[in-house]
Amino acid sequence: MAHYDALTGLPNRSLFNDRLEHAMAQAKRQGHLLGVVLLDLDHFKQVNDSLGHRTGDALLQSVAERLKEHTRESDTVARLGGDEFAVIESELADVERAAVLPGKLLKAFEEPFVINGRKLHVGTTIGITVHPGDGETVEDLMMNADLALYAAKGDGRNQFRFFAPQMGAQLALRNVLEQDLRRAVAEDELVLHYQPQLTLDTGELIGFEALVRWQHPKRGLIAPSQFIPVAEETGLILPLGEWVLKHACAQASAWTRAGFPPTKLAVNLSGAQIHQKNLDELITSTLSETGLSPENLELEITETAMMRSSPFSVAQTLTRLADLGVRIAIDDFGTGYASLTYLKRFPASTVKIDRSFVRSLGRDVNDGAIVRAIIELGHSLNLKVIAEGVENEEQRQILGEARCDAMQGYLFSKPMEPDRLVSWLRARTPVGHVQPEAWGYVS
Ligand code: C2E
Ligand code: CA
Ligand code: CA
Repeated sequence: MAHYDALTGLPNRSLFNDRLEHAMAQAKRQGHLLGVVLLDLDHFKQVNDSLGHRTGDALLQSVAERLKEHTRESDTVARLGGDEFAVIESELADVERAAVLPGKLLKAFEEPFVINGRKLHVGTTIGITVHPGDGETVEDLMMNADLALYAAKGDGRNQFRFFAPQMGAQLALRNVLEQDLRRAVAEDELVLHYQPQLTLDTGELIGFEALVRWQHPKRGLIAPSQFIPVAEETGLILPLGEWVLKHACAQASAWTRAGFPPTKLAVNLSGAQIHQKNLDELITSTLSETGLSPENLELEITETAMMRSSPFSVAQTLTRLADLGVRIAIDDFGTGYASLTYLKRFPASTVKIDRSFVRSLGRDVNDGAIVRAIIELGHSLNLKVIAEGVENEEQRQILGEARCDAMQGYLFSKPMEPDRLVSWLRARTPVGHVQPEAWGYVS
């Protein structure tokens, strides 16, 4: 019993390690390859949190069954702990064959699991190592499988990756990044760039989105995609988000004092920030300290973050913020799984169509249909619709015909540092400026 997992009946980690050791010795003697397939369920914690531990346990049992179904008798399937499983493929003819089983498993996970009559869609992410080559000892082989799994998760889950030697270096880099990022937030190495948002029909300015960058003393300007995920994983996103909010509001307020007509300022909020306890206080105090009026602040929250955990409590928080007069935008819309029921509960005033749909407008008919559907849906819920990532005239034209309200993208301007933005504003003002209320907002 000490060697088997009580819940699934599969070998546990200690038996798995023994078998792997044994299989490695045998592979050496017989001159064939051996593969380790390490799997981690996607968003298992969410299942446990929202549907309860019993459902979580039943799911793990079904996963174990499914893994056994799709592997050979001679392979070892084990549960290493939590939602982590592993398979030893004891006889591989060549390295290419090592991709076959993970491919089959990903496919097998496309089929929903039926737990107490309820269908659950659960994906899995997989790291693969092949012996010899990726490790001479059990420890090395497993550590490298872990690195491959980590890399696959970083690429967006629900896929597999083979171990590659540079993965260790990438992880080391990430650790350095984490250390540096702590300093960056504390020592003001962050900077904000601002990207204008314009109406589609007349090209008038309606506001700006603040986008953070990191001015690293050695590495130069680092894009948010490189450090926001690290900040989210390490909790640094809270102080970072607070820094962004304060600086962006102070900047917008300073521009108004300098005589530029007030426009809307959009600030991105991370999922963790919405669940932060004192978010309302933070917003209220920031507004009063900077003198920015609430209706000039729009908080952008991704559809995925809204839906990720307890959407109803998110809706409550957002309602309190909306009551302060602050506007809410649903960001990257179309990439999450928000249902209409939820959308109606979020007190949003704006929905932003994700760049991925805008990119292929004119080329991919399906994307065109999705974009039109989002615009109609948005309008039927009384929301303004902003298209992101508008890069060319053709996209603009299609969006205009679909009656999209506003756009943001390289066609008009990349995000600009404050100095450039001021020259940009000077060049446009007073022509082409629109008061917030002219855009359907009441101040
Ligand atoms: P996002 O909120 O979807 O921001 C829009 C991204 O699209 C920005 O990338 C912007 O530079 C880029 N973009 C705008 N127009 C175009 C275009 O025409 N073509 C293309 N290819 N790209 C365009 P950026 O600045 O690199 O930011 C990436 C992401 O990082 C943002 O995506 C947002 O999710 C996150 N982020 C940025 N600043 C913050 C922040 O202050 N807080 C948080 N939590 N996240 C932030
Ligand atoms: Ca955004
Ligand atoms: Ca976006």
